[in-house]
Amino acid sequence: MSKDPSTLLLEHHLKALKLPTFLRDYTSLAAVCSQERCDYPKYLFRLSERELIDRERRATERRIKEAQFPVLKTIETFDFAAQPSINEALVRELLRGEYLSKKENVLLVGNPGTGKTHLATALGYAACTQGKRVRFYTTTGLATQLLEAREERTLQRLHKQLDRLDLIQLDELGYVPFSKAGAELLFDVVSRAYERTSLIVTTNLPFEQWTEVLGSERLTGAMLDRLTHRVHILEANGQSYRLRDAKKRLKRS
Ligand code: ADP
Ligand code: MG
Repeated sequence: MSKDPSTLLLEHHLKALKLPTFLRDYTSLAAVCSQERCDYPKYLFRLSERELIDRERRATERRIKEAQFPVLKTIETFDFAAQPSINEALVRELLRGEYLSKKENVLLVGNPGTGKTHLATALGYAACTQGKRVRFYTTTGLATQLLEAREERTLQRLHKQLDRLDLIQLDELGYVPFSKAGAELLFDVVSRAYERTSLIVTTNLPFEQWTEVLGSERLTGAMLDRLTHRVHILEANGQSYRLRDAKKRLKRS
Protein backbone atom coordinates (compact mmCIF):
# COMPACT_ATOMS: atom_id res chain seq x y z
CA MET A 1 0.00 0.00 0.00
CA SER A 2 1.43 3.38 -0.91
CA LYS A 3 1.71 5.92 1.84
CA ASP A 4 -0.67 8.84 1.88
CA PRO A 5 0.75 12.34 1.38
CA SER A 6 0.52 13.34 5.02
CA THR A 7 2.49 10.23 6.07
CA LEU A 8 5.11 10.99 3.46
CA LEU A 9 5.35 14.56 4.68
CA LEU A 10 5.50 13.45 8.30
CA GLU A 11 8.41 11.16 7.51
CA HIS A 12 10.12 13.92 5.61
CA HIS A 13 9.69 16.30 8.55
CA LEU A 14 10.96 13.75 11.07
CA LYS A 15 14.07 13.30 8.93
CA ALA A 16 14.53 17.04 8.56
CA LEU A 17 14.17 17.45 12.32
CA LYS A 18 16.70 14.64 12.81
CA LEU A 19 14.41 12.42 14.83
CA PRO A 20 15.38 8.94 13.60
CA THR A 21 13.81 7.11 16.52
CA PHE A 22 10.49 8.91 16.00
CA LEU A 23 10.66 7.82 12.38
CA ARG A 24 11.48 4.22 13.24
CA ASP A 25 9.00 3.79 16.08
CA TYR A 26 6.04 6.08 15.55
CA THR A 27 3.87 3.44 13.86
CA SER A 28 4.67 0.51 16.13
CA LEU A 29 4.36 2.61 19.27
CA ALA A 30 1.05 4.03 18.04
CA ALA A 31 -0.26 0.47 17.80
CA VAL A 32 0.97 -0.33 21.30
CA CYS A 33 -0.50 2.88 22.70
CA SER A 34 -3.85 2.37 21.08
CA GLN A 35 -3.98 -1.13 22.56
CA GLU A 36 -3.00 0.18 25.98
CA ARG A 37 -5.39 3.09 25.59
CA CYS A 38 -2.81 5.72 26.43
CA ASP A 39 -3.64 9.25 25.39
CA TYR A 40 -1.81 11.46 22.86
CA PRO A 41 0.49 13.20 25.36
CA LYS A 42 1.51 9.82 26.81
CA TYR A 43 2.22 8.53 23.30
CA LEU A 44 4.35 11.58 22.52
CA PHE A 45 6.09 11.28 25.85
CA ARG A 46 7.03 7.66 25.22
CA LEU A 47 8.20 8.39 21.71
CA SER A 48 10.31 11.37 22.74
CA GLU A 49 11.80 9.43 25.62
CA ARG A 50 12.99 6.75 23.21
CA GLU A 51 14.46 9.43 20.96
CA LEU A 52 16.34 10.97 23.88
CA ILE A 53 17.74 7.64 25.09
CA ASP A 54 18.88 6.73 21.58
CA ARG A 55 20.41 10.15 21.07
CA GLU A 56 22.40 9.89 24.29
CA ARG A 57 23.59 6.43 23.35
CA ARG A 58 24.73 7.62 19.92
CA ALA A 59 26.51 10.61 21.46
CA THR A 60 28.33 8.34 23.90
CA GLU A 61 29.35 6.03 21.07
CA ARG A 62 30.63 9.02 19.13
CA ARG A 63 32.64 10.27 22.11
CA ILE A 64 34.17 6.81 22.58
CA LYS A 65 35.14 6.69 18.92
CA GLU A 66 36.63 10.17 19.05
CA ALA A 67 38.62 9.29 22.17
CA GLN A 68 40.61 6.81 20.04
CA PHE A 69 41.40 4.32 22.78
CA PRO A 70 43.99 1.78 21.58
CA VAL A 71 41.85 -1.09 22.87
CA LEU A 72 38.56 -0.55 24.63
CA LYS A 73 39.01 -1.76 28.21
CA THR A 74 36.56 -1.18 31.00
CA ILE A 75 36.63 -1.64 34.75
CA GLU A 76 34.47 -4.77 34.49
CA THR A 77 37.41 -6.73 33.10
CA PHE A 78 39.95 -5.39 35.60
CA ASP A 79 40.86 -7.92 38.26
CA PHE A 80 41.76 -5.95 41.39
CA ALA A 81 42.74 -9.14 43.22
CA ALA A 82 45.48 -9.69 40.67
CA GLN A 83 46.96 -6.26 41.41
CA PRO A 84 46.53 -5.61 45.15
CA SER A 85 48.90 -2.62 45.06
CA ILE A 86 46.21 -0.59 43.25
CA ASN A 87 43.99 1.52 45.49
CA GLU A 88 40.63 0.14 44.42
CA ALA A 89 38.61 2.63 46.47
CA LEU A 90 40.34 5.51 44.72
CA VAL A 91 39.76 3.94 41.30
CA ARG A 92 36.04 3.55 42.11
CA GLU A 93 35.86 7.15 43.25
CA LEU A 94 37.59 8.38 40.10
CA LEU A 95 35.19 6.38 37.93
CA ARG A 96 32.42 8.62 39.25
CA GLY A 97 34.13 11.49 37.48
CA GLU A 98 34.07 14.30 40.02
CA TYR A 99 37.76 14.92 39.41
CA LEU A 100 36.81 16.02 35.89
CA SER A 101 34.50 18.76 37.10
CA LYS A 102 37.25 19.92 39.44
CA LYS A 103 39.82 19.79 36.61
CA GLU A 104 42.01 17.51 38.66
CA ASN A 105 44.60 15.15 37.21
CA VAL A 106 45.35 11.47 37.65
CA LEU A 107 48.77 9.94 37.58
CA LEU A 108 49.24 6.20 37.20
CA VAL A 109 52.73 5.16 38.15
CA GLY A 110 54.15 1.65 38.06
CA ASN A 111 56.06 -1.12 36.40
CA PRO A 112 55.19 -2.33 32.91
CA GLY A 113 52.25 -4.71 32.67
CA THR A 114 50.58 -3.65 35.91
CA GLY A 115 47.39 -2.45 34.25
CA LYS A 116 48.06 1.29 33.98
CA THR A 117 46.86 1.61 30.41
CA HIS A 118 43.90 -0.63 31.17
CA LEU A 119 42.86 1.56 34.10
CA ALA A 120 43.48 4.78 32.17
CA THR A 121 41.27 3.51 29.36
CA ALA A 122 38.59 2.44 31.83
CA LEU A 123 38.60 5.94 33.33
CA GLY A 124 38.46 7.49 29.87
CA TYR A 125 35.57 5.25 28.90
CA ALA A 126 33.67 6.14 32.06
CA ALA A 127 34.21 9.83 31.27
CA CYS A 128 32.78 9.31 27.77
CA THR A 129 29.64 7.77 29.23
CA GLN A 130 29.35 10.82 31.50
CA GLY A 131 29.23 13.17 28.53
CA LYS A 132 32.88 14.22 28.63
CA ARG A 133 35.09 14.72 25.61
CA VAL A 134 38.18 12.57 25.88
CA ARG A 135 41.25 11.97 23.75
CA PHE A 136 43.77 9.21 24.35
CA TYR A 137 47.35 9.71 23.15
CA THR A 138 50.55 7.88 23.66
CA THR A 139 52.83 10.59 24.96
CA THR A 140 55.26 10.14 22.09
CA GLY A 141 52.34 10.10 19.65
CA LEU A 142 51.18 13.48 20.89
CA ALA A 143 54.73 14.87 20.84
CA THR A 144 55.07 13.76 17.21
CA GLN A 145 51.73 15.34 16.29
CA LEU A 146 52.75 18.57 17.99
CA LEU A 147 56.07 18.66 16.17
CA GLU A 148 54.37 17.97 12.84
CA ALA A 149 51.72 20.60 13.52
CA ARG A 150 54.42 23.14 14.27
CA GLU A 151 56.16 22.20 11.05
CA GLU A 152 52.92 22.62 9.11
CA ARG A 153 51.94 25.77 10.98
CA THR A 154 48.77 24.16 12.34
CA LEU A 155 49.81 24.20 15.99
CA GLN A 156 47.15 26.74 16.92
CA ARG A 157 44.48 24.47 15.49
CA LEU A 158 45.76 21.46 17.39
CA HIS A 159 45.85 23.47 20.61
CA LYS A 160 42.26 24.57 20.02
CA GLN A 161 41.20 20.96 19.51
CA LEU A 162 42.89 20.03 22.77
CA ASP A 163 41.30 23.00 24.56
CA ARG A 164 37.86 21.66 23.71
CA LEU A 165 38.48 18.39 25.57
CA ASP A 166 37.51 17.58 29.14
CA LEU A 167 40.18 14.92 29.50
CA ILE A 168 43.53 14.41 27.78
CA GLN A 169 45.16 11.04 28.34
CA LEU A 170 48.92 10.72 27.96
CA ASP A 171 49.98 7.10 27.98
CA GLU A 172 53.49 5.78 28.54
CA LEU A 173 55.52 8.75 29.56
CA GLY A 174 59.01 7.47 30.13
CA TYR A 175 59.77 4.85 27.53
CA VAL A 176 61.15 7.21 24.91
CA PRO A 177 63.07 10.42 25.61
CA PHE A 178 61.83 13.56 23.88
CA SER A 179 63.73 16.00 21.76
CA LYS A 180 64.09 19.45 23.30
CA ALA A 181 61.35 20.81 21.03
CA GLY A 182 59.12 17.81 21.73
CA ALA A 183 59.47 18.26 25.48
CA GLU A 184 58.70 21.97 25.20
CA LEU A 185 55.60 21.40 23.09
CA LEU A 186 54.41 18.79 25.55
CA PHE A 187 54.97 21.21 28.38
CA ASP A 188 52.76 23.74 26.54
CA VAL A 189 49.94 21.17 26.47
CA VAL A 190 50.25 20.48 30.20
CA SER A 191 50.49 24.17 30.90
CA ARG A 192 47.38 25.07 28.86
CA ALA A 193 45.46 22.23 30.49
CA TYR A 194 46.27 23.50 33.97
CA GLU A 195 43.00 24.10 35.84
CA ARG A 196 41.09 23.83 32.54
CA THR A 197 41.32 20.24 31.35
CA SER A 198 42.00 17.09 33.33
CA LEU A 199 45.02 15.02 32.41
CA ILE A 200 45.61 11.34 33.00
CA VAL A 201 49.24 10.38 32.66
CA THR A 202 50.61 6.86 32.87
CA THR A 203 54.29 6.33 33.48
CA ASN A 204 56.81 3.74 34.55
CA LEU A 205 59.11 6.47 35.88
CA PRO A 206 59.21 7.85 39.41
CA PHE A 207 59.26 11.68 39.47
CA GLU A 208 63.00 11.84 40.14
CA GLN A 209 63.63 10.28 36.75
CA TRP A 210 61.37 12.44 34.60
CA THR A 211 64.29 14.68 33.72
CA GLU A 212 65.79 11.70 31.90
CA VAL A 213 63.03 11.81 29.26
CA LEU A 214 62.17 15.50 29.35
CA GLY A 215 65.75 16.72 29.29
CA SER A 216 65.69 20.01 31.12
CA GLU A 217 65.45 20.03 34.90
CA ARG A 218 63.67 23.38 34.88
CA LEU A 219 61.05 22.24 32.41
CA THR A 220 60.50 18.99 34.31
CA GLY A 221 60.04 20.93 37.54
CA ALA A 222 57.54 23.31 35.96
CA MET A 223 55.63 20.45 34.34
CA LEU A 224 55.45 18.44 37.57
CA ASP A 225 54.38 21.54 39.42
CA ARG A 226 51.31 21.97 37.20
CA LEU A 227 50.58 18.28 36.86
CA THR A 228 50.71 17.50 40.55
CA HIS A 229 49.03 20.61 41.96
CA ARG A 230 45.70 18.80 42.04
CA VAL A 231 46.43 15.17 41.42
CA HIS A 232 45.27 11.71 42.38
CA ILE A 233 48.09 9.21 42.31
CA LEU A 234 47.54 5.53 41.65
CA GLU A 235 50.55 3.33 42.19
CA ALA A 236 50.87 -0.15 40.74
CA ASN A 237 53.88 -1.97 42.04
CA GLY A 238 52.93 -5.58 41.64
CA GLN A 239 54.01 -8.17 39.17
CA SER A 240 53.32 -7.75 35.49
CA TYR A 241 49.91 -9.15 34.57
CA ARG A 242 51.24 -10.09 31.15
CA LEU A 243 54.08 -12.05 32.73
CA ARG A 244 51.77 -13.73 35.23
CA ASP A 245 49.38 -14.64 32.46
CA ALA A 246 52.18 -16.04 30.32
CA LYS A 247 53.56 -18.06 33.23
CA LYS A 248 50.13 -19.50 33.97
CA ARG A 249 49.70 -20.51 30.35
CA LEU A 250 53.15 -22.12 30.30
CA LYS A 251 52.33 -24.13 33.41
CA ARG A 252 49.08 -25.37 31.89
CA SER A 253 50.67 -26.55 28.65
P1 ADP B 1 50.72 -1.21 31.64
O1 ADP B 1 50.08 -0.11 30.92
O2 ADP B 1 50.85 -0.98 33.12
O3 ADP B 1 52.03 -1.63 31.05
P2 ADP B 1 48.49 -2.74 30.65
O4 ADP B 1 47.35 -1.97 31.18
O5 ADP B 1 48.82 -2.54 29.23
O6 ADP B 1 49.78 -2.48 31.55
O7 ADP B 1 48.24 -4.27 30.95
C1 ADP B 1 48.82 -5.31 30.16
C2 ADP B 1 47.74 -6.32 29.79
O8 ADP B 1 47.31 -7.00 30.97
C3 ADP B 1 46.50 -5.69 29.21
O9 ADP B 1 45.95 -6.58 28.28
C4 ADP B 1 45.57 -5.52 30.41
O10 ADP B 1 44.22 -5.55 30.02
C5 ADP B 1 45.94 -6.73 31.24
N1 ADP B 1 45.85 -6.47 32.68
C6 ADP B 1 46.77 -5.87 33.46
N2 ADP B 1 46.40 -5.86 34.75
C7 ADP B 1 45.19 -6.46 34.79
C8 ADP B 1 44.27 -6.77 35.85
N3 ADP B 1 44.55 -6.47 37.12
N4 ADP B 1 43.11 -7.39 35.52
C9 ADP B 1 42.84 -7.71 34.23
N5 ADP B 1 43.68 -7.47 33.20
C10 ADP B 1 44.83 -6.85 33.46
MG1 MG C 1 50.75 0.85 29.25
